[in-house]
Amino acid sequence: MKAIRVHELGGPAVMRLEEIPAPAPGPGSVFVRIHATGVNPVDAYIRAGTYPRKPALPYTPGIDGAGVVESVGKDAKKFVPGDRVYLTGSLSGTYAELTLCDEWTLVSLPPHVSFAQGAGIHVPYATAYRALFHRAHARPGETVLINGASGGVGIAAVQIARAAGLRVVGTAGTDRGRKLVAAEGAHEILDHKAPGHSEKALAVTGGKGYDVILEMLANVNLANDLTILALHGRVVVIGNRGTVEINPREAMGRDAAILGMTLWNISQPDLISIHAAIHAGLENETLRPIVGQEMPLSEAPRAHVAIMEPGSYGKIVLIP
Ligand code: NAP
Repeated sequence: MKAIRVHELGGPAVMRLEEIPAPAPGPGSVFVRIHATGVNPVDAYIRAGTYPRKPALPYTPGIDGAGVVESVGKDAKKFVPGDRVYLTGSLSGTYAELTLCDEWTLVSLPPHVSFAQGAGIHVPYATAYRALFHRAHARPGETVLINGASGGVGIAAVQIARAAGLRVVGTAGTDRGRKLVAAEGAHEILDHKAPGHSEKALAVTGGKGYDVILEMLANVNLANDLTILALHGRVVVIGNRGTVEINPREAMGRDAAILGMTLWNISQPDLISIHAAIHAGLENETLRPIVGQEMPLSEAPRAHVAIMEPGSYGKIVLIP
């Protein structure tokens, strides 16, 4: 099979398309023919060697993907060859024509959801759901600021929060991104790059502040986020690329909470429960993954450059 292989950690060019033997399924595992692979920023951090998790080399990158079950191990009971699925993890990496998965990590892909959309479900939607409901305990009627709503996690958060009855304020750095955030259901749309962004964000709440903030770039925004939280407000740090100085008094005075989260820390039961909710949202079409860009698998290096650039518009996916 063809797969992207990384023999040494480094820049995007260390990813090369190679012909390698397909792995053999164990008793409880399932072989999936990948029709689309989702590109996440974490794939780029791992490949660069800047992420705390270091893969054994050589390796095939990728967590997200969607495709068709090719064959199943003898103890696999839920899926049969030919089933359409999306992945919530992979044993052998998803930047490949075929990938090996534990059966419990597969979720059936509703017929109206394309493979490209399916490749943009797991990391973005599970992160958004986890941040909103497991970490921030967001409730219908509360107001959420999604700081960075135009990318994979942000669009997922807009759709999930809107469907759950929250008032949604979403931000993007480009006009195109802001139009997408509006189309996907945000009640108010702001520019996180505009001077006075936090003051404008506070004004949108009539001065009351946010019950929940989902933060995609904490090293830039966390200090200001604390000043625009409501009483008992919660900030969830989803994305961060550096350090930041905060005034803890802003949190004290509001009984506020700063909550970290990393999707890797999730338990199996929590992950299965989250995907039951996401699957229901896909079925009733309140959740609609947005594919901004499709590239051939061989262009994984270009995809890793693009995922780190501003001007996000939903998901970047690779097609084997
Ligand atoms: P993405 O698709 O590349 O989107 C990045 C988002 O960040 C875009 O909406 C972008 O907006 C926004 N952004 C850029 N500058 C910003 C600023 N100054 N203030 C606020 N937002 C800004 O990435 P993603 O998949 O959505 O992931 C977002 C972040 O969360 C990444 O850092 C990723 O590593 C992290 N993440 C963490 C977890 C976890 O478990 N903690 C899971 C998934 C992702 P514009 O491009 O419109 O400016």
